[in-house]
Amino acid sequence: MQNVDLHMHSLYSDGSFEPDRLVALAKEAGVEMVSLTDHDEIAGLPQMRKAAEAAGIKFVTGVEITTHWGPRSIHIVGLNFDENNDALRSYLQAIRDERVVRAKKIADKLAELGMPGALEGAHSLVTNPNLISRNHFAGWLAAAGYVKDRQEAFDKWVGNDAPAFVPCLHGRLEEAVGVIVEAGGTPVLAHPGRYKLEGWALQELLDAFKRAGGNAIEVTTGSHLPEDVPKFAQICREQGFEASSGSDFHYYSSRAMVGCQGLLPSDLIPVWHRF
Ligand code: AMP
Ligand code: MN
Ligand code: MN
Ligand code: MN
Repeated sequence: MQNVDLHMHSLYSDGSFEPDRLVALAKEAGVEMVSLTDHDEIAGLPQMRKAAEAAGIKFVTGVEITTHWGPRSIHIVGLNFDENNDALRSYLQAIRDERVVRAKKIADKLAELGMPGALEGAHSLVTNPNLISRNHFAGWLAAAGYVKDRQEAFDKWVGNDAPAFVPCLHGRLEEAVGVIVEAGGTPVLAHPGRYKLEGWALQELLDAFKRAGGNAIEVTTGSHLPEDVPKFAQICREQGFEASSGSDFHYYSSRAMVGCQGLLPSDLIPVWHRF
């Protein structure tokens, strides 16, 4: 199976590196195909493409769209779409706008919990003025000494079940899948092991994604636990999904480095076979 990395973040969302630095890391890891999948943002793609072409690595366009399925936050990676598609571009802009409103709500909650000044603090860490994320709040909480690191900030304050969590409710999962397909791209259900869904609830998500037009799920990713990999590989075999692979790299941490999330099992159909 080819070594590819079709999921990573740059300074254009909540990652710490420029796209060309990500390409250098990919090259070191022997990656043959990359995508850049910033949250709700495609402004980093031109730099990524240029660097990848210079390094002799195949490049495909990418984005990770923040969606919701009922009350749950679900991430959909879009790959190999037309980055000039107007409907996609305005859809992403609307989510970025929603993030601004939501950031204010997160800051209000943190102030109520005794941590004032979070909005200014998070903004001081933002690297793309058009994109604010919970990672920036987590960084500020650590810098201000409320927690020891970003991980503890998620666990205690801004993670999905924590007291200052505010969902980003702009777009339904089905809409995001439709927007990607309309732009000529391939939707991928990102890190399905991360949603803590089992049994029927997980099956309902997979069915909803498929009904909306989705046909690929991530199997090897830095956002999966080791036991998630055989589980979702088997789901691909039994339910006819193609498989994707990406580190979900943001910055140096205990999670996978670029290109180090593990190869797909060789009997799966890789989503990139037609890219
Ligand atoms: P947002 O898109 O603003 O909701 O922020 C989501 C991002 O925060 C994810 O892409 C991760 O980078 C980070 N994140 C979310 N939950 C956690 C967690 N429990 N631990 C570490 N990072 C997390
Ligand atoms: Mn992120
Ligand atoms: Mn994600
Ligand atoms: Mn991601």
